[in-house]
Amino acid sequence: MASLFERRLQTIKGIGPKRAELFEKLGVHSAGELLRFYPRSYEDWSNPLPILTVPLESVCVVRATVLHRPVENRIRKGMTLYKVKVTDGVSDLSLTYFNNPYVQNLLEEGKEYLFRGKMSGTFLRREMAAPDFLPADKAAPIRPVYSQTEGLSNRMIASAVRNTFALLPEQIRDPIPENLRESQELLPLREALEQIHFPASQELLQKARRRLVFEEFLVLQLGMLGMKGRSREENRFRLSRDDSEAFFGLLPFTPTHAQRRAVSEAIADMMGPYPMNRLVQGDVGSGKTAVAAALCYCAARSGIQSALMAPTELLAQQHYRSLCSFLEGTGISAALLTGSVTAAKRREILENLRSGATQVLIGTQALFSDDVEFSRLGLVITDEQHRFGVAQRAALAAKGGHPHLLVMSATPIPRTLALMIYGDLEISVLDELPPGRQKIETYVIDSAKRQRAFGYLQKHIDRGLQCYIICPLIEESGSDMASVEQYAKRLREEWMPRARVGILHGRMKPKEKEAVMTSFAAGEIDILVSTTVVEVGVDVPNAVIMLIENAERYGLSQLHQLRGRVGRGTEKSTCILVSDAQNGDTMRRLKILASSSDGFRIADEDLKLRGPGDFFGSRQHGLPALRIADMAGNMDVLRDAQEAAREIFTEDPPLMQPEHRGLRAEVNQLFSKSGEIIFN
Ligand code: ADP
Ligand code: MG
Repeated sequence: MASLFERRLQTIKGIGPKRAELFEKLGVHSAGELLRFYPRSYEDWSNPLPILTVPLESVCVVRATVLHRPVENRIRKGMTLYKVKVTDGVSDLSLTYFNNPYVQNLLEEGKEYLFRGKMSGTFLRREMAAPDFLPADKAAPIRPVYSQTEGLSNRMIASAVRNTFALLPEQIRDPIPENLRESQELLPLREALEQIHFPASQELLQKARRRLVFEEFLVLQLGMLGMKGRSREENRFRLSRDDSEAFFGLLPFTPTHAQRRAVSEAIADMMGPYPMNRLVQGDVGSGKTAVAAALCYCAARSGIQSALMAPTELLAQQHYRSLCSFLEGTGISAALLTGSVTAAKRREILENLRSGATQVLIGTQALFSDDVEFSRLGLVITDEQHRFGVAQRAALAAKGGHPHLLVMSATPIPRTLALMIYGDLEISVLDELPPGRQKIETYVIDSAKRQRAFGYLQKHIDRGLQCYIICPLIEESGSDMASVEQYAKRLREEWMPRARVGILHGRMKPKEKEAVMTSFAAGEIDILVSTTVVEVGVDVPNAVIMLIENAERYGLSQLHQLRGRVGRGTEKSTCILVSDAQNGDTMRRLKILASSSDGFRIADEDLKLRGPGDFFGSRQHGLPALRIADMAGNMDVLRDAQEAAREIFTEDPPLMQPEHRGLRAEVNQLFSKSGEIIFN
């Protein structure tokens, strides 16, 4: 079977070199991948309605007999209309097709068809323009709709999939062991694949989906468990004592209980037999930097160097400033290494690292370029880890001689999902904000109210306060989405001419970004118009209003993070979500933000409303690419799969038993794309 699954696309009937290229555009490279190229949605033809009962303007399927052959009607040059009358026995329906002579041959008088289209006309005279149709006796009840690309139509994809099935033997090997399939009532693989592409009924479609979602969750979870259990190295950077109390004494504030707990959990790891592998999950503003600093301090006191890696230069700078102020007077020395450090400075930093004179190195990915050598690197911390994937984590561990690893994430994720996404890590949660934080008032408005919002901004600016405005685009692109450049221009020229406006986006040079942030932090800019680059970690307490354009474009968790940029000082803060896409779903989602400030609750609600697909699909977590994201799947399946994975893994950790070999292959295949081999 493996060979068939790996078979090149061109060996499938109807696929030549050209078409194979188009399929590759869709990410399909082999027969196996084509079978796993699940439909994006379905057209249900299984439930035709009587013509008269269909509400006008709705898309529907009717079953009707052709009363006469299509009549040709030349309206003007190049424009021919074909008219057909059909009946369901009770009422008639007029169909029209433009410039489509084929219907004359395809629609036979006296024969029955299913027609699918939008019902229009009046109550008495029903019409449909250019409906799709199928002979009633041959109609597949539910038809797949695939993601398409130019030159590759839905029909072509469906027929390629059909031809691939023709090549499959009746019996194919199923990675899910039979006993598990039985206890979970899962369809066998072949049947599931058939039903996901060409469902015989809604019920079978649901069963197929459940089986395939289950399988993917199972494989993912097994991979995570495999990574966690894999090669538990010896702890070569064992802390001999816990110096955290001394560190807490250095802070200008009292640490929260949650901060203390996270620090002591991490210290316990670092004192234990294996290297630490821990995630600290904490809402924006929960004080993760202080937790990181505490660990760097303790490591340094035990003669161990630390590296703290941030996803952006801006954040690295901010961490550097915080750590320097926390560590002042302790004799512990920190350095900042980013891409924009001069060559001479860089040499000096590297020299101090090698000699051990510098104990804490802060920076971006540049931290791990080849020429960076530590004298004794034993702790690696990555901040906002959703930008770093599973594979990078593993690479880091290997490069550093298996140092302790702490990842910090500000994206609260419901516990069930966290287990799946960060299954290779222990988890600490900062579920408590430092005291005195204010609730950020959150409003949803449409663009008609924008001018009033500007008045509100100006009032605050007049009092010396500052604002952020977030736009999804950098420059104008012809769409109706807001762009940073255009927006800033209009603010300066017409909307708020008195305000000092600055811009920030990812295409600016690091030096430019730094200059803008510095001057914003110094209060020389009133309004910072930015893309989501300010999303992670930037801290300006004097900024009190966050206005987000095209708010419907973002996930709730991301909006929550953006909102966390304000409310960092003593002033009351506000978040204004601007959206014209105020349909029911969008509004419901945005209102959740308005009513809650608990990141974990928001994530939970998002999960309930949109299913886990978004969390897996966002590609933020560095997970291997999943197909499930498109299929959503529900939480029950996720839990069942999780449990099954745990059982299998407990019984047979290396997945060596014959009935687990298929799963082992699937796990290795899933993770191979991110450069990992989980089970040798
Ligand atoms: P995040 O978890 O979002 O990274 P930060 O570490 O940036 O949060 O902390 C946010 C702000 O709260 C910083 O100004 C920090 O100095 C402050 N802070 C952190 N812990 C406490 C605490 N226990 N009490 C008061 N302020 C704190
Ligand atoms: Mg932070």
